[in-house]
This record gives sequence, C-alpha cells and structure tokens, in this order.
Amino acid sequence: MAELLFCGLVLAGVIALGMRKAPLWVWAAALAAAALVWQQESVHGSMGLFGFLLWLFAIAFALLAVPAIRRAALIAPAFKFVKGTLPKVSDTETQALEAGTLGFDAELFSGTPDWDKLRAIAPIVLTPEEQAFLDGPTEELCRMIDDWQVRHADREVPQPIWDFLKTNGFLGMLISKQHGGLGLSAQAQSLIIGKIASRSPDVVTIVMVPNSLGPGELIEKYGTEHQKEYYLPRLARGDEVPCFALTGPTSGSDAATMRDIGIVARGEHDDAVGIRLSWDKRYITLGPQATLLGLAFRLFDPDNILGKGENLGITVALIPTNHPGVRIGRRHLPSGAAFPNGPNWGKDVFIPIEWVIGGEAMVGQGWRMLMECLAAGRAISLPSSATGGVKSMLRFTSAYARIRKQFGLPVGRMEGIEEPLARMVEAAYASEAARAVTAAMVSRGERPSVISALMKYQTTERMRRSVNDAFDVHGGRAICDGPSNYLQSAYQMVPVGITVEGANILTRTLITFAQGALRSHPYLYSEIKAAQDSDPERGEQAFNTAFSDHIAFAVSNATGAFFHNLTGGSLVAVPDQAFDTAQYYRQLGRAARSFAFVADMTVVTLGGALKTKQKISGRLADALSELYILACVLKRFDDDGRLMSDQDIVALAAANGLYRFQEALRGVIDNFPVAPARWLMRAVVFPLGSPYRPASDALGHRAAKLVLDAPEVRDRLTRHIYVSNEPGDPTGLLEVTLKKVVAAEAAEKKLERAIRAGTIRRYHGIDWIGEAMAKGIVSESEGQQLREVDALVARVIAVDDFDPAELRPNYAGVGHNSRRIDSAAAE
Ligand SMILES: Cc1cc2nc3c(=O)[nH]c(=O)nc-3n(C[C@H](O)[C@H](O)[C@H](O)COP(=O)(O)OP(=O)(O)OC[C@H]3O[C@@H](n4cnc5c(N)ncnc54)[C@H](O)[C@@H]3O)c2cc1C
Repeated sequence: MAELLFCGLVLAGVIALGMRKAPLWVWAAALAAAALVWQQESVHGSMGLFGFLLWLFAIAFALLAVPAIRRAALIAPAFKFVKGTLPKVSDTETQALEAGTLGFDAELFSGTPDWDKLRAIAPIVLTPEEQAFLDGPTEELCRMIDDWQVRHADREVPQPIWDFLKTNGFLGMLISKQHGGLGLSAQAQSLIIGKIASRSPDVVTIVMVPNSLGPGELIEKYGTEHQKEYYLPRLARGDEVPCFALTGPTSGSDAATMRDIGIVARGEHDDAVGIRLSWDKRYITLGPQATLLGLAFRLFDPDNILGKGENLGITVALIPTNHPGVRIGRRHLPSGAAFPNGPNWGKDVFIPIEWVIGGEAMVGQGWRMLMECLAAGRAISLPSSATGGVKSMLRFTSAYARIRKQFGLPVGRMEGIEEPLARMVEAAYASEAARAVTAAMVSRGERPSVISALMKYQTTERMRRSVNDAFDVHGGRAICDGPSNYLQSAYQMVPVGITVEGANILTRTLITFAQGALRSHPYLYSEIKAAQDSDPERGEQAFNTAFSDHIAFAVSNATGAFFHNLTGGSLVAVPDQAFDTAQYYRQLGRAARSFAFVADMTVVTLGGALKTKQKISGRLADALSELYILACVLKRFDDDGRLMSDQDIVALAAANGLYRFQEALRGVIDNFPVAPARWLMRAVVFPLGSPYRPASDALGHRAAKLVLDAPEVRDRLTRHIYVSNEPGDPTGLLEVTLKKVVAAEAAEKKLERAIRAGTIRRYHGIDWIGEAMAKGIVSESEGQQLREVDALVARVIAVDDFDPAELRPNYAGVGHNSRRIDSAAAE
C-alpha cells in the first residue's frame, strides 16, 4: 500500500515538475530524493528495480545538467539528426512563412494560450465616418441590386451599379485618404463586404478584388512615389479598373512555378531598359473589363543589365491593358456567374522597367510582396463574404421554415428540419464571432498567416454547409431558378469561394498546419533555421538554445495534457471574470494542451514527411481551427454582454466544437504512422477514453426554436447583413410575410382546427376563410388577417415558370480553348 501511494506521489511529482518546466538539476535532485525515500524501511526497504530506475534517471539528469556533457551527449547528435530529417524550407516558402505576423496564432501552438490576449482585442469599433458609409452608400447599393437581373437577365453587373461603386469609392476602400481612397479600417471593409455578399455574390466579387491583392494594396505598400501619385487616385475613383494575374494553366495552387517570363532587355528604338514579357494567365477576375493589369512573372536578366545576376525571381508589374501586345477581354463563365473573369496573354510584349511595382529596386521581390498582402487579404475578403453568406442563408431559411407549412405545421417545427436549422445557427454565430475578431486583428496591423488560412477554409466550408442546409429546408422552392429565387446565386458561387485564394484542400492540408506549425511553433522554425545555417558552429549554438527549450516545452505539454485529461480539465486555470463560460474555458485549456502535445509529436516524428502526410496535417488544421473558433465564440458572448438568450447557442457551439476537435485529434492518433508515438499520444490524450459528445438533441431544439420564435435573436444572429423590407423584393417578401404569419398565428390555429375537424374544407374553388368567418370560427378582423397572410404565403412559396423560348441559353457561340501565347505568335 505504501509503495503504491509512493508511486502515485512520484507520478504527481513528475507531472508537477514537467508542467512547471523545472530545470534539469531540480529533476535530478527530486529523483534522487525519491530514490532515497523509496529505499526506506517504511516504503520498500531496498533499491529494487524501481529504485534503480529512479537513480538511473537522477544520474542521467544530473549529467545532462552540465552544459558540456549535455552538448556532447544530446545536442550534437540531435543537431545531426535534425539536419537530415526536418523539412527543408525553400526560398518561396521562407518568404511565405515570414510574410505574416505572429500573434494569437503562436498562442494556439503554445499549449497554454493566454485567452485574455484574445479577449483584449477590441470588439467591433467603427469611426462615425465608417458607420455612415455602411449605413449610407452600402445600404443603398444593396437596395439597388437586382440579383436576377445581374446573374441572368444581363449576365453582367449593370452599368448603374458599376457607376455607383466607382462614384462612392467602393473600389478604393483600402487606398489611403492621402491617395484619394476611403482609407477604411479592415473591420469596416469586412463589414461592407459581408453586407454586399448577403445581397449579391457577383457584385461583392467586383468590390473584393480591387480591395484585396489587386493591385491597389501592392502599389500602396510597395509602389514608387510616381506609381502612388498616378495610379492610386485613379483606382480610388474607378478611372482604372484593375485586375491581378497570377494563375496560369500550368500554375494554379503551385503559383510559384509559373512559366510566364520576363527578360530584361533594351528598347528597340532607344536604349532604355525594359522587360520583354510572354505570359498566359487564366481565371483572372475583372480581367475582361480591366484597364490596368497587375501581372506576376519570373524575371531573368541573361545579360546582367541590372547587375543583380541572371535569375531575379518573381516580379510584379503594372501594365495598361491597351498596351500593344496585351491580349485581354475574353471571358470565362465561372459557375454561370456574372462577374467578369477571363484569360489574358501576350508574347514578347515590351514594357519599361519603371512599370515594375516599386520600380527597379523591387525586381524579384514579387513573391514576398504577394505573400505579405495575402496574409491580410485572406483574413478579410473570403471570411467576410462567406460569413455574410452564412448569415443570409440563416435569415432567409429561418423565415421560410416558419412560413412554409406541411402536415399542418411550419416545417421548422419538425425535428428533421431542426437539425439543419441548429447547424445554421451555430455556423452564423461562430463565423461572425471569428470574422469580427480576425478583422480586428488586421485592423490593428497584424497579418495573421495561420489564422487567415484557417478562416478562409473554415468560413467557406461553413458557407457551403449552410447553403446546402438552406436548400434542404426550402426543398423544390430553392431548386427552381427564377427572379424569385434568392438562394441560387449563393449556391452557384460556393465553389468559387472554396477555390480562390488557395483552394480549400490545399489550404487545409498544407497551409494551415503543415506551414502554420513551422511559423507558429515556438521552437521548430528556429531549429530548422539553425540546422540550415551555413556556419555549422553558429547553427549548433542556436540549435542548443532552441532544442533545450523545446524539450522542456514538450515535457510540459505531455505532462500537462495527461494531467488535464485525467482530471477532466477541472483544474485548468480560467481567465478572470469568465463566469458561466469558465466550464468552456477549462475544456479549451485542456484541448489546447492536447493539441500542442500532438502537434509537437507530429512535427518531431514526421519531420519533412509532414508535407505529404496530409490526412494527418489536415486533421490537425481542423483541431486548431476548432480551438480558435471556439475561443472567438466565447469572446463574442462576452462582447455582446453575456446575453441569457445566447447561452444555448454558445453551449451548442462549444459542445459541437469540442467534439469536432476530439474527432480530429482522434483521427490523427488512430492513423499516426509511427506506432510508439501513436501509443504514447493515445495514453496522454485519451487516458479515460473520448470525453466529448456532440450537442444534445434538446440543445439543438432550443437553438432552432430561438431563431424561429425570438426575432431579436434572429436579428442578432444575422446582424450586419442587408435586410430588405420591400414586399416587391423576394427577400423583403419573406420578412413582411414572416411578421404577418406570426401575428396571425392564433387565427391560423383556429382555422387549422376547424379544417382538421372537417368543419371547413380547404380546396381550390372554395372560399374557406369566408366560410370560417361565416361559421364564426374566426372573427371578421381575423379573417382579413388570414386572407392577407394567405396571399403573401402564396407568393413566398411560388416558384417561377417560363415560356420555353425564354429558356434558350443566353450565351451563344462556341468557347475558345487553346494555348494562347502560341496562337498570339501565329497572329
Ligand atoms: C472564379 C475564379 C476567380 C479567380 N480569380 C483569380 C484572379 O483574379 N487572379 C488570379 O491570379 N487567380 C485567380 N483565380 C485562380 C485561383 O486562385 C486558382 O483557381 C486556385 O489557386 C487553384 O488553382 P487551380 O484551379 O488550377 O487548381 P489546382 O491547382 O489544379 O488544384 C486542384 C486541386 O488540387 C488541390 N491541391 C493542389 N495542390 C495541392 C497540395 N500540394 N496539397 C493538397 N492539395 C492540393 C487543390 O486544393 C484543388 O483542390 C481564380 C479562380 C477562379 C475559379
């Protein structure tokens, strides 16, 4: 008994020392003391195997505490091993890795995130000017948009919309005021994009491109004074329509392998230095209407005219699209959408070197420039538009589910429909929570590369799920297209959001975790850089520091994770004033320890193979995402004033988020290719099995009921989107009808009861409301109310039909599909 108790105490001591990152000499002393106590008569009485092991470890730790011994016995061999196994980081990867800033991303990998750092981020703050822009021109723009006209009748964003966008500065939201733009914060841009997205995915695409990569931000950040003075005011006013061309037929996700080439050369007529360009790009948004082409290409200087060597690297230039030799204007037809998108190409097109963004000084800096801007852009454009989409799907669907009746009930009251509704509630609350926090990070100057990647794929995936759920709840009403269909445009555009700015599979499996770990792990990148140092001695010295800290970090996470998983997270420290969210913070803290431990084991064990073990890295990206998004959910709950009515939604998001986190980590461990690591991880993370379950049916029921029955909760869940109240607008009709349906609920019930009882018959050709009034089942005024509701509901559930002639394809002609620069040469 005494021995068992002693072993328990030793285990507790090991956990305590590990979690506190005790120095080696403290370990040695503690283990020696433990060995001496073990040998006491009252415990074991002799050394035995356990005592021998304690002494062995005590001596080993004592020796390792001596720097020279530690270096020879541990650091040097580890350094040699690591040189061979850790991933090599290429130049383009280094630029991508160093492009973003390290903020909360790093906390998530630390095992002990300081949630207060996230809570301290300001909630949504807009200047009065920004608020006025959101309430004024943005609202008016949304009102002007007729989705059917855009995506079908015109298959073009109409000129009045373009004019409105230009006149009001929508194309220059990120351009500074000094250069004629609106100079809006990232938070304001995000809200504006989300609102327009809730109205028209086509129009928001036109707004997003000039306010993301291209190329206003590149000019603002890296342009020469002349480029800034000339182009920025023109872009801000819309005198120039820009596009940014990176992607080509052979270089999609792997954009850095582009075959587009520039050769530094002298002009034919004068001696001025320029670049002779040949390129072939596709999928370029705004391309067909662009007046200014931002072009990325590889630059070579075979005659060393610039004196910087031959291979200068990826470079970005600004080319007016009317420049001789530029081929632009044809269109792709992406998912049948109306925003302009098309190829462009050119062969041996000569441009002055001054057209490089930033001029001659910035040749070869294109990849770094792109990565730096992408880290911020990816955190705003797609997360904002996808979140706008998720919220609008919930707004429309919750109204429809309350209005549409089958089997005598609003379909939203049926358990089967509650499931997608609850999912949509969770997606809307969580996506908006994470969007707001991430935009606030960018507003204060951060470029969170890992968080922006996870936000891009998580929000667009949640959007995809919400669109599918919206379709399921609407049934045939969503499927039949026409002017009254308010879901089709979102459905069509989902694949675009999934694919652009890093297709989701790549973003999930490669960028978020595999590259994210390199960037955000506290020691890994320093170790790799040390291993790649051209001076081996300096490298080993740097490695020594990083590796020693890494071991303490790993032990701390292993012991911490084991302890918290054994104790159910009950002893995890929670932030001050967590109140009723303390339970979730405890579980988040527990999960963060497990994540850091598994992430660390994965990068150390798999090394360079991590890039190919994408099923592992994809699941780790999912686990990381759940940690971040749940932390944002808790922050939103705080920022919103801890509303009672939102408690169930937070509970739903927490239960499901933790469950998905667990399943992601379990997937990693179950499929981990190295057996001993797999066993250890399982013992540490799941010592008592899987603790989390998905949210209960009862919780899902309450969340769905909230969005159907509590208008203020529905408003809050769908805040910042455009809401029409015009009965002539298909979404406005939903709003108007919903209010009337709710108001007529009592009268409806009376009528339904009478119909079920057979007192009233509801068939075509019968005035059943008139009969109900005549028989005194409903009063005169109730009858009028029911007539109005009946007429409105008939319009809400109606779908469009067409004369067959009207359905002939509105894009005639044969598509052209050939190798462009070859055909240009032949012309
Ligand atoms: C409508 C639209 C608008 C666009 N606008 C622009 C624009 O304005 N400017 C511009 O330059 N580009 C633009 N693009 C291009 C867009 O960025 C690319 O489509 C995207 O990068 C993916 O390239 P790809 O389509 O060639 O797919 P591919 O690269 O062929 O990828 C195919 C699949 O393989 C996956 N994959 C690829 N590599 C990996 C990997 N290492 N690990 C795991 N999975 C991987 C991808 O995730 C994807 O699922 C646009 C594209 C579309 C469709």
